[in-house]
Amino acid sequence: MVEFPATPAPVPPRRRPAVVPVARPPRVEGLGLASERAHAALIETVRAQGVRDPEVLAALARVPRHPFVDAGLASRAYEDVALPIGHGQTISRPSTVGRMAELLLAALAPQARRRARVLEVGTGCGYQAAVLAQLVGEVVSIERVRALHEAARAHLRAFRVPNLRLVFGDGRLGVPQAAPYDAITLAAAGDAIPDALLMQMTVGGRLLAPVARPDGEQALQLVERVGPDDWRASWLDAVRFVPLREGTR
Ligand code: SAH
Repeated sequence: MVEFPATPAPVPPRRRPAVVPVARPPRVEGLGLASERAHAALIETVRAQGVRDPEVLAALARVPRHPFVDAGLASRAYEDVALPIGHGQTISRPSTVGRMAELLLAALAPQARRRARVLEVGTGCGYQAAVLAQLVGEVVSIERVRALHEAARAHLRAFRVPNLRLVFGDGRLGVPQAAPYDAITLAAAGDAIPDALLMQMTVGGRLLAPVARPDGEQALQLVERVGPDDWRASWLDAVRFVPLREGTR
C-alpha cells in the first residue's frame, strides 16, 4: 500500500497547496473498480522499480493514467509500459515518470518543492505534467506537435490542475516568459542539452534530460547550475526516449 502522509504539510499563507486534488476521472467503459485495483498494483510496481519518495508515489497514485490514452489502450493503462499516443510519440512508463520526478526534486526541501517552478519539454498527452503538478508550485509544459498539445489540453480539462500551464512551441528554446525554473525535465532525447534551457535554470536548479550518446545509446543526464556561469553534469541510467526535434508541426 502507498502510505499517504497522515496530515498534509503546512502550506505557506497566500500560496496554493502544491498537492492539488484531482477530480474523479471520467470512467472508461468496462474499467471502473478494476482500474482502481490495477492503479494500486501499478504503484507497487513503481515502488519495486526503486522509486521511494512518498510524495512521488502519492502523486502517481493520485493521477489516473487511463484518461491519457486512447480508449482502445485503456485496459493497458496500468501496466508499467510506454504506450503509443499517436504522431509517433509515446506516454512514458510510470516508473520512468516517477524516477525522473524523484531525481529532479531530490535536492529541494519540502517548502522549496512546494514553491518550485518546473518546465517540462515534451507534454505529449499531459500525463507526466499532471503528475509533476501534484508535487510542485507550478508546472509549465511545452509541446511541439499541435495535435498533441491540444489532446493534452482536452485530457486535462477533466481534472483540476490549476498550477499547470500548457504551451505550444519548440521546447528547445524553453519558455523564457516564465523563466527561471528550479527544475527542467525533458521527455525527448537530443544530442546535447540546448543552451536556452541551461540559461533558463535558476542557480541551484536541476535539469534532467535523456541525451543521445555518441555510441547511439541514450542515458539520463543530470545538470546542476552551480553558479551563474557554471554547470555540472553527470550521467545516470540508460534510457530510451523519442527524439527531441526542431521546430513545430
Ligand atoms: N511527457 C510525456 C511524454 C511524451 S513523449 C508523458 O507524459 O508521457 C515526448 C514528447 O516530446 C512528444 O510528444 C514529442 O512530440 C515532444 N517533443 C519532441 N521534441 C520536442 C521539442 N523540441 N519541443 C517540445 N516537445 C518536443
